[in-house]
Amino acid sequence: MQDKSISDLAAGLRSGEYTSVELTQHYLDRIGRYDERLNSFVTVTGESALAAAKVADARLKSGDAPALTGIPIANKDIFCTDGVRTSCGSRMLDNFIAPYDAGVISRLKDSGSVMLGKTNMDEFAMGSSNETSFYGPVRNPWDTGLVPGGSSGGSAAAVAAGLCVAATGTDTGGSIRQPAALCGITGLKPTYGRVSRFGMIAFASSLDQGGPMTRSAEDAAHMLQAMAGFDQRDSTCVDQPVPDYLAGIDADLKGLKIGLPKEYFGEGLSAEVAASVEDAIDAYRDMGAEVVEISLPNTDLAVPVYYVVAPAECSSNLARFDGVRFGHRCENPRDLEDLYKRSRGEGFGAEVKRRILIGTYALSAGYYDAYYLKAQQIRHQISDDFAQAFQQVDVIMGPTAPTTAFAIGEKADDPVSMYLSDIYTIAVNLAGLPGMSIPVKPVDGKPVGLQIIGNYFQESKLLNVAHRLQMATDWHQARPEAFS
Ligand code: GLN
Repeated sequence: MQDKSISDLAAGLRSGEYTSVELTQHYLDRIGRYDERLNSFVTVTGESALAAAKVADARLKSGDAPALTGIPIANKDIFCTDGVRTSCGSRMLDNFIAPYDAGVISRLKDSGSVMLGKTNMDEFAMGSSNETSFYGPVRNPWDTGLVPGGSSGGSAAAVAAGLCVAATGTDTGGSIRQPAALCGITGLKPTYGRVSRFGMIAFASSLDQGGPMTRSAEDAAHMLQAMAGFDQRDSTCVDQPVPDYLAGIDADLKGLKIGLPKEYFGEGLSAEVAASVEDAIDAYRDMGAEVVEISLPNTDLAVPVYYVVAPAECSSNLARFDGVRFGHRCENPRDLEDLYKRSRGEGFGAEVKRRILIGTYALSAGYYDAYYLKAQQIRHQISDDFAQAFQQVDVIMGPTAPTTAFAIGEKADDPVSMYLSDIYTIAVNLAGLPGMSIPVKPVDGKPVGLQIIGNYFQESKLLNVAHRLQMATDWHQARPEAFS
């Protein structure tokens, strides 16, 4: 059952082979049986899931039911969910019951999907390994001694282990694509502005974007269809019609121009990962695509620029957690200053504090021009590199991450080496482009991701390119045996 695609499940629900209540119970049972080993969920909402499934079954009977009706999914615990704890992986919000639904959550509810629960994540989405969560690390279903990637590691592990059909993630610098790569699933970060950020707890507002994490490109198309669209409550959401993401998904790739940035295949990339990525690119050649080398000359500046821009925005966004209005409040504060200091000191973990400190420093008088302004200027150049590249090619391909999943604890004390695991994903956020990761040939049983980057609002093209590889190969069908 848990190997079926959304299209197959939708057909099974319509033919009466099973009901959404049965399907939902099946996934709840799997969560009950397996999640102790993975720690991929922070909250399981079994009762409300079964109630939603009942409603979905009635809707299916009435005939007026979109494709996701009755499909059990999970949401990253960064999306506000009305009446359900929304922790953002932090002690700060451990007691926070959101009073409203995020834009993405309303859309997914309207589409009839059934929420099984909220998935674990790096605290405030800061991390690449899911080790910074207040709720403990998530484990990779392919080898539970390894990290699942981050920050949407709970969603990635849950999808890979078949604890839900699909999940939502968010990606500020790679947090959908990198865990998708490390867990062997498909992840899509849409164009900045394609999906509403309303009610998605802000990390770095000019970079954050929500998107789907699924087992295939076709499932991602179904999810994005429900998630995308204008929301006037997010001032950066773009008012542009949402295309039918399934319509052209089978289109032939003859003549597709693929650019391989030479900077993505240099030092730091594991030779085995490179070989898997090249195998996939050969498969595209066989489909009639033309492959050319391109250059993105500012690639090595993306990580340093990001680690000025993202902490600067985070230091401002996280100022709202003051122990007064919501979230953690320290015991018996002496005065207002003590309340602020101890509430924030106790509520935030080490990585979040590190980012707030860096960001506050970068924004302070006297340093603003040297750091933030400079970073914004280079950010423009990084966007220009992509604009130039897209004059020559239709899509850009390369590895999603430089290595396969690493051991839990391996990089925990070395933030810079951790930051470098997003070296190929971060520039895409700085430019606001859509990017996708799909599984290719594993290395020693560990998943590897191929990254596909498109021009603005070219999600349909990415889905088409990804789907064609998934029609021609079966890398995306590999499942971790321990969770079958
Ligand atoms: N790993 C990056 C960071 O730690 C990106 C995180 C993200 O995309 N949310 O900031």
